[in-house]
Amino acid sequence: MAPPLARTHEETYLYFELHPCPCGEVDFGSTSSLELVDDEWIVRYTGQCVACGRPRGFEFRQPDEPTAPDDGEWAPGREPSQLLDAGEWLWVADVYGSVPAELDGLSDAEREQARTDLLAARAAIDEVLKFLPARAAEVPQDAFWSYRGRVVRTAEPGRFGRVRLEAARAAYDRALAEFDR
Ligand SMILES: [Zn+2]
Repeated sequence: MAPPLARTHEETYLYFELHPCPCGEVDFGSTSSLELVDDEWIVRYTGQCVACGRPRGFEFRQPDEPTAPDDGEWAPGREPSQLLDAGEWLWVADVYGSVPAELDGLSDAEREQARTDLLAARAAIDEVLKFLPARAAEVPQDAFWSYRGRVVRTAEPGRFGRVRLEAARAAYDRALAEFDR
């Protein structure tokens, strides 16, 4: 089976974060190589865990024309991710979305970090929405293939309804608008 498509470097590194070494370390001092296999660009990341020395490696397909995502998105286009499932993207949104509600006490650097994190969280909601078929009321079951993703869905399946997802996105819009006041 062809390896999954990695749309952007940002998505690839997020995938590494979600798949640490069994010892818990994410960094494996990776080097990457690119190879054309059956008309597909295959990128291989190999290295050794910097904590325990275990050899580690990942293999992905790469778009013919790698593009950098715009500000405020993880990957361009409407196609859903093949690396992170819908539940993992919501998990990512929760991680980045837990910023201080009050901006007044923040330094400029903290403010900028909070804004960057909120943009990443909103973009993660957009990634969940890419799994939602045009007229569907909720994200379908086959959009959850990872253990973490299924745990998130089982904990609160209602969060994957269209209405709730759009409300979550709108809440991030409002939070981001605070920065322009
Ligand atoms: Zn390790």
